[in-house]
Amino acid sequence: MYLFKKSIDLQKHLDQLRKQNLQIGFTPTMGALHQGHLSLVNKSLSKTDINVCSIFVNPTQFNEKSDLDKYPRTTSQDLELLTTVNNDIVWMPSVEDIYPKDLDTTIPLDFGQLDKVMEAAFRPGHFDGVAQVVKRLLDIVQPDQLFMGQKDFQQMSIIKNMIEQLGLNVELVSCPIIREADGLAMSSRNVRLTSEHRAKAPIIQQTLQWAKSQMNQIPPKEIAAIALERLRLPDFKLEYFEIVDGNTLLKIEKLSDSNFVVACTAVWLGEVRLIDNVIFKNES
Ligand code: AMP
Repeated sequence: MYLFKKSIDLQKHLDQLRKQNLQIGFTPTMGALHQGHLSLVNKSLSKTDINVCSIFVNPTQFNEKSDLDKYPRTTSQDLELLTTVNNDIVWMPSVEDIYPKDLDTTIPLDFGQLDKVMEAAFRPGHFDGVAQVVKRLLDIVQPDQLFMGQKDFQQMSIIKNMIEQLGLNVELVSCPIIREADGLAMSSRNVRLTSEHRAKAPIIQQTLQWAKSQMNQIPPKEIAAIALERLRLPDFKLEYFEIVDGNTLLKIEKLSDSNFVVACTAVWLGEVRLIDNVIFKNES
């Protein structure tokens, strides 16, 4: 596996590969890798010739400095895991390389309601930082395909919208959520859960599954209200539970109002913020 730190070195290497007509896949990550990340790498390896996995803890998407400081960093383990799945290239740029002082990397796009609801309402500025870093990473890597996880559903919607608005020449591939055996969505943040909170965390996924089981019986608004009650537990601090159209991210009144319906939630368990979602139906 090739390891690059400087973007210029990565670009030189990729230019050579492109001359051989090789298709480049790209899996951006913030490290602390788990099987969820590796599923993206595997998907890319199955659909392209070469995968570039970036590890970059992007400071501009953290709205709380303490969250950035506490973000787990496990570089040597990450490199080992990437080797086990035969990843081709790992890229670990510095903050200065991604955000050079003389380059304006902000993305002056209007994402409409996509950047106002759910995550955006609780993490001001977060998606500006996400769009900024993904655009910068895409500019450097110039992949044919970009692989992202459904786990961060709203993030994927924003990036899809950015690609459309800017007319970027890259195909976005959505990858399903990989879960622990007890249903908890894998996340780099899970290691920060206390053992007590870790034991309770699967309730989030169970509540989403319960909500899905009710979709043909009860109107979405009522399902969401009951789910909110179910998640009002000691140690849980609930931010939102919404049943939305998977394209617009706006709440739906009736299941039949949309052919793409997803329930999304965000919950604090102690000091750790967890997000999860379940697709009710996707006939789009
Ligand atoms: P992160 O390192 O958290 O920024 O995530 C990097 C990529 O991995 C994003 O596209 C995430 O959506 C994806 N990802 C994170 N957790 C999972 C998971 N449990 N299953 C599938 N993809 C995931």
